[in-house]
Amino acid sequence: MSATVHISHRGEERLRRGHAWIYRSDLVKPDAEAGDLVTVVGPRERRLGTALYSDRSQIALRMLTLGEEPSGPELWRRRVEQAVRFRAGLDLNASACRIVHGEGDRLPGLVVDRYDRWLVVQALVQGIDRRLGELTSLLVDVLQPEGILARNDGRVRLLEGLERTVEVLFGTVPDRVAVHEDGVRYEADLRHGQKTGLFLDQRENRAAAARYASGRLLDGFSYNGGFALTLAPRCPAIVAIDVSAEAVARIRRNAELNGVAHIEAREANVFDELRAFERRGERFDTIVLDPPAFAKNKAAVPKAVAGYKEINLRALRILNPGGFLVTCSCSYNVSEALFLDVLHDASLDAHAPVSIVEQRTQGRDHPVLMGVPETGYLKCVILRKLG
Ligand code: SAH
Repeated sequence: MSATVHISHRGEERLRRGHAWIYRSDLVKPDAEAGDLVTVVGPRERRLGTALYSDRSQIALRMLTLGEEPSGPELWRRRVEQAVRFRAGLDLNASACRIVHGEGDRLPGLVVDRYDRWLVVQALVQGIDRRLGELTSLLVDVLQPEGILARNDGRVRLLEGLERTVEVLFGTVPDRVAVHEDGVRYEADLRHGQKTGLFLDQRENRAAAARYASGRLLDGFSYNGGFALTLAPRCPAIVAIDVSAEAVARIRRNAELNGVAHIEAREANVFDELRAFERRGERFDTIVLDPPAFAKNKAAVPKAVAGYKEINLRALRILNPGGFLVTCSCSYNVSEALFLDVLHDASLDAHAPVSIVEQRTQGRDHPVLMGVPETGYLKCVILRKLG
């Protein structure tokens, strides 16, 4: 180990409370290079552990080990093996899932998703980017995939001063991979799809929604039709809406793949369509709202809140009494408490009393590290409109 980084009392306090990040403002003597694995030392010269150092991000240190625990190759292998074993024990009925969820698996800045026999990796921080070669060998050894693709094209890499690239790290990776999830078949486009191809974090919420769905379904912000397809056996008429032409093409292809003929996929803006449904007096028995993160940072929260309120209010107006609204927010900056407040306001303004049927979060393969709230971001609330 080369460098040592001293942190302030406030930084040490943060670690003591279980957080895994140290901000640049809490560094005392940052004497390290981009991506170094450093020893972290507190104000009383106490060794606090090891961390990955970033010379660009405001999050300067991401803790890898605490106290005296060694941080050699065996540690990385053990953490990856533990992450793999945990997923194997989840009894998921799916050939695609998240294998490594960064800090949630104590592998900060590393994401690994499995799509059947292929892996998609994301290196979100300098320290992981630098070790991508070793990590690739490790993943090949532990999981024996046919190919590994790096989807390093996310915007967060810019905060780390890393370039945005998509490249094959090992073996060969086909353009499209066929996967299944709870009886639904998908064609995942690992190179060009959103995230790493599918929204794996919604698997269990799709299954939960299927327990209540019936009648005419509106799947708003549908992407490749995940909710629509999972709910299709219970809903005889379905409208799926996404603003992206590519997404709509994917919904149609996936519907065909599953032999589902009763999904009408529309390329449109959900905000406009909700207004149009209301104007025309169209009604639904089940509505899913799964928008992109409206609040990507704290400053965007007020505008995001207005957006969430609007779509939920309009959805509650066009939902038949007794019907279910499955409504999601993946904005980390909008807490569950705030999201529930917004839903409450929407129900008051819509004169639609609702009961809360389920308060849900991201799938279990996306574990939240206690003490690091940033590892949890997805809210999914299932509401029933009372008559
Ligand atoms: N429900 C999906 C994931 C949705 S991701 C699943 O389970 O897999 C959010 C989607 O919203 C993206 O596909 C994006 O293209 C779409 N989107 C963003 N803004 C939109 C808008 N105003 N109207 C309709 N779709 C929108």
